Amino acid sequence: MLGKNPDPALEQQVAEPNSVIAFYDERVLNHQPDSDAPFLPGRMDRKIRELLSALKVPWVYPEHAGRLKAIHQLLELEPVPGVTFEAGKEATREQLGRVHTSSYLDHVFELRGKNAWLDVDTTAVSPGSVDAAEVAAGTTVAAVEAVMQGRCQSAFALVRPPGHHAEPVRARGFCLFNNVAVAAAHARAELGCERVLIVDWDAHHANGTQDIFWADPDVMLFDIHRSSPFYPGTGNLEDVGVGLGEGTTINVPMPAGAGDRAYLSAFEDILIPAADWFQPDLILVSAGFDPHPFDLALNVSYEGFAAMTSMLQTLAQRHCDGRLVFVLEGGYHLLSLSRGVRTVLAVLAGAEAPEPGLIGIAEVRAAADFHRHAFIAEDPDKP
Ligand SMILES: [Zn+2]
Repeated sequence: MLGKNPDPALEQQVAEPNSVIAFYDERVLNHQPDSDAPFLPGRMDRKIRELLSALKVPWVYPEHAGRLKAIHQLLELEPVPGVTFEAGKEATREQLGRVHTSSYLDHVFELRGKNAWLDVDTTAVSPGSVDAAEVAAGTTVAAVEAVMQGRCQSAFALVRPPGHHAEPVRARGFCLFNNVAVAAAHARAELGCERVLIVDWDAHHANGTQDIFWADPDVMLFDIHRSSPFYPGTGNLEDVGVGLGEGTTINVPMPAGAGDRAYLSAFEDILIPAADWFQPDLILVSAGFDPHPFDLALNVSYEGFAAMTSMLQTLAQRHCDGRLVFVLEGGYHLLSLSRGVRTVLAVLAGAEAPEPGLIGIAEVRAAADFHRHAFIAEDPDKP
C-alpha cells in the first residue's frame, strides 16, 4: 500500500493496462564531449589515444548522441502500437541534492558551458552537458510521476548521459547524475512511495546506485552484471549493504558470455523471492542493452530482454498495480541498443514475450519428421 500522498495534484488514477509513455527530450543530445579535448595530465588514455592517432584510428567517445538518435529513428520507422511520446523536464537542485553532495553539485554546475574532463575516469563534459544531465535526471523523474499519477502503467525514460555509475561525490563511467537514484529518492520524498525496487540489468555494475542506497532499507537494488575485473570492478556477491540496509543490496556477478538462461534463472531464483519479501510499491529498471552479444561482454538476446521485461511486469502487477519505470543506461552498438529498447517497449505495450531459445525449434521438429526415414536402410541385411 502507498503511504500518504502529500500532493493532491499527484492523486492516483487507475492506469489503462499496457499504457506506455516513452519520454524523449532532445535537449539530452547536447551532451557532446569532445574527444579531441586535452586530457588530464598523466592519463593512461592519453597514451592510448596517441597510439591510436599514430595508427590513424579515430578515438570516439562511445557514449554519444547517436545512441538516442538511433533509438528514436527506429521507433519512428517501426512505431510500437500503444506507446506515446512525451518530452521531459530538468531536475531541480533539490531533487539532485537528495543523492549527490552539495559540493559535488557546485563543482558540476561550475562546468556549465565549458569543455572539461570531470574525473580521471571516462567522463567528460561539453558546453551543453550540464543542462543535458539535468534534463536526463528530470526526465526520469517525469517518467516516475506519470506512472505514479496513473497516466500510464509503465514508462521508459530514454535519456543520456546515463546515471548508474555516478556516485554521491563524483562522476564516473560516462555518468554525471544518477538518474535512477534521483527518481527513486523523489518517489519516496514526494510521491508517497515507501519502498522502491531498482533492478539493474546493464552489463556493468551500478557502483553509484549501490553507494547511494548502501545503508537504506527502503530502496532495494538487484544488480546482475559481468563480474570484476570488468568495469567498474565492484558488485561482489558478498556486498549486501550495511546497517539497516543489510540485505537490500543484491549482487549477481556473471562470467563473460553469460546469456538468457543464466539471467532468467537469476530473476526466477533470486529477484522474484527478494521482491516478494520486499514488497515494493514501485519498480524502476536501470536498463542497459550492453549485455547483448554485439557489445562483446555477455550474451543476452532480444528474447532474453523481452522475457525479463515480462517477468518484471508480472512482479509489478503482483506488488504495485503494474507500476514499472525503465531508465536507459548503457548499450553502445546502435543496432542492439535500438532494437533492444523497441523489444522492451513492445512487451510493456502488451506483446507476448517469446520464450528464449525456442525460435526455430518447431521447424526443426517438422524437418526431423520429414527426414526421419531417409537414412533407414530398406534392405534390413544392409549394414
Ligand atoms: Zn553498461
